[in-house]
Amino acid sequence: MHCPFCNAPDTKVVDSRLATEGVQVRRRRECLECGERFTTFESAELSLPRVVKSDGNRERFDEEKIRRGLIKALEKRPVASERIDEMVNHITKLMMAEGSREIPSSQIGEWVMQALRELDQVAYVRFASVYRSFQDVNAFREEIEKLVQATAAKAERG
Ligand SMILES: [Zn+2]
Repeated sequence: MHCPFCNAPDTKVVDSRLATEGVQVRRRRECLECGERFTTFESAELSLPRVVKSDGNRERFDEEKIRRGLIKALEKRPVASERIDEMVNHITKLMMAEGSREIPSSQIGEWVMQALRELDQVAYVRFASVYRSFQDVNAFREEIEKLVQATAAKAERG
């Protein structure tokens, strides 16, 4: 890091501590040339991939959009708001873990469905019916049957 006073290339870190609840690192630095001290803040750049929509348009990943979708699916269901926050965090982490620059919106939809299936089956069916926009009653019934089978299998495993 160059010194902002004399532009010397070498500065020494004299103190380092966490700032803003651990999101940033605050460093006190001292210039080896002129002896001036200054502070830098360092934070990780968590770059989320951009979302590729089904029409090919790209948009910024929007946590709120996911949250709204979940709240709608979980309307009048016995699920605490904290669980919704957890799900949003979980999906955001999956996005970051993916490590790619772009991610199809369909992938995000699948993650949301997976998470909902574990959490609340009524909400899952609600979300899936809107998200997959079932073309006909049969497609919807198939999805319900799969769900019932999965539940039965789970119950058998105990
Ligand atoms: Zn200096």
